[in-house]
Amino acid sequence: MDAVDPRRQVPRTDAVLADPRLQVAADRLGRDRVKRAVTDALGRVRAGELDAAAAADEAVRALPVAATSLRRVVNATGVVVHTNLGRAPLSPAARAALAEAAGYVDVEFDLADGSRARRGRGVLDALRRRVPAAEDVLVVNNGAAALVLATTALAAGREIVISRGEMVEIGDGFRLPDLIESTGARLREVGTTNRVTLDDYAAAVGPATAAVLKIHPSNFRVEGFRSEVGVAELSGLGVPVIADVGSGLLAPDAQLPDEPDVTTALRAGASLVTCSGDKLLGGPQAGVLFGRADLVAEVRRFPLARAVRVDKLTLAALEATLDGPEPPVSRYRCLDADALRARCDRVAARLPAVGATVVPSDGAVGGGGAPGVALPGWAVAVPAALAAPLRRGTPPVVGRLRDGRCLLDLRCVEPDEDDDVVAAVLAADGSTG
Ligand SMILES: *Cc1c(COP(=O)(O)O)cnc(C)c1O
Repeated sequence: MDAVDPRRQVPRTDAVLADPRLQVAADRLGRDRVKRAVTDALGRVRAGELDAAAAADEAVRALPVAATSLRRVVNATGVVVHTNLGRAPLSPAARAALAEAAGYVDVEFDLADGSRARRGRGVLDALRRRVPAAEDVLVVNNGAAALVLATTALAAGREIVISRGEMVEIGDGFRLPDLIESTGARLREVGTTNRVTLDDYAAAVGPATAAVLKIHPSNFRVEGFRSEVGVAELSGLGVPVIADVGSGLLAPDAQLPDEPDVTTALRAGASLVTCSGDKLLGGPQAGVLFGRADLVAEVRRFPLARAVRVDKLTLAALEATLDGPEPPVSRYRCLDADALRARCDRVAARLPAVGATVVPSDGAVGGGGAPGVALPGWAVAVPAALAAPLRRGTPPVVGRLRDGRCLLDLRCVEPDEDDDVVAAVLAADGSTG
């Protein structure tokens, strides 16, 4: 008779699950997740790939650190609003607000008298304080939802006049014209890709017109022979003007002279202005509508509004972003280049082992905003071969490849994370041998 291969004496799942380390992990990750890791390990024992005695060790090794697969990433790309890295990082105040709102909260409840209260009243007040030019405001799920809701509520079955130069795709294949028409408003295009005049708009406005739409083409620039018509002129056409400013700048910003802002659009006569919450505004994913009280009320009552309603976590984080300390997005884009250089020098000085140097590096606003605006700064350059191990490290560090080097731009890295960057580079270097 053949000797039984000890690896084939597969232990029982319960026996492995009794391992104290796995018991503790079950509290953190849930019993099902831990059981799956044990089952996988036992499968490998059965296949002869693993020693039976090592099953518990293997299950422990395979467990994730947290119950979510989303992981904190060190953004060393220099791109402040990085779409693939979650756009705006929240301020500490907004993070604390998220945690507070995670349980039961008085989101629609008046603690003073025990009656039902208006949902999101805190954030609405904060928005009105920041944009006094708005008669009323509404918060929805994201910028695209704000635009679709505004155009649908005001123009379903009717026409929206829009310039051909503003028929934009916002990324990942999403085209705003398709989005708007998907809910029943018809687009009436005027002008050409590069030029449109007030007369073009005036000729198109008629009894079927519900509104004129002005979309900020935020992710590209047209230079040369071009002309567009501003909100002020459009607002003289006798129909509501809806302006989608995109980025969420609430007031003019000297660093971004070409970026439209909510206050200026309202003052120029826009009836409704829409924007995102997680681009330059620096908050959680959200969309905000500002404007005339009667139109905001109409939009709020429209049935679709319920389908794009914002949750309590967003309300909490957005209010803390507006009322709390300056959010990281604003701090990062205004960072002083000399201060960045000093940090890069200190980090590079600790990395002679990989031949780190300090090189000029322009950061970018990102998120499809302010194309062509460079944010002058510096980066630590390390060998390109470290890019992959840096990405796979703990925490993952994401840099940018340029001229055969991996650039680690510290603009969007908090100073107290510089140590993490140094440790990550040394670990990555160790892993490549
Ligand atoms: C980003 C953007 C949107 C979409 O906003 P989301 O928050 O991504 O849904 C719409 N319009 C403009 C002009 C934008 O820049």
